[in-house]
Amino acid sequence: MPLIRYQSPDDSSFLVFDVLRFRVDHGLFLLKIKPLKQSLADRLEEQRDWNLEAMKLFQENRRVAACLEWLESLGDDSEQVVIPDLKDEPAIDIVANRLIGEREYDRVFCTACEVEYQAGQIRLEPWAFEEDGVTVRGQRSLCRQEHIIHVQTDELDVAEIEFED
Ligand SMILES: [Zn+2]
Repeated sequence: MPLIRYQSPDDSSFLVFDVLRFRVDHGLFLLKIKPLKQSLADRLEEQRDWNLEAMKLFQENRRVAACLEWLESLGDDSEQVVIPDLKDEPAIDIVANRLIGEREYDRVFCTACEVEYQAGQIRLEPWAFEEDGVTVRGQRSLCRQEHIIHVQTDELDVAEIEFED
């Protein structure tokens, strides 16, 4: 089975933070093709009866379908590591957080310590970060040397802004 090399972008909800205090050394994950295809297929199935135009999901739906088609075309009979095209990355972004959060990948290269780890060597822990009244909560993945190689957000709280009269 080929493996798909994937690196998550910074979560857009993190852009509110001071990036010097808040740092993620995004790992290079080698995703297993089977769960990746399954997640994309599930996403399409979920959207089957939705009004995609109204929900502004038409583009996403096309991208997911195209990415799935590309993965199908790779076949099952090689051990190679495949780097996706830029156009396929947004589709993978949609499902990769959950796969990484469930350690559903083969291995990951930590760019900070330059060591490759098996999925089972990566520690998962609940995580929260607060700055200027904004709090995110979720889960993060740490390598053996405590580098934060992935962060996923499950909740975002913004304190209410008080306006002066
Ligand atoms: Zn590391």
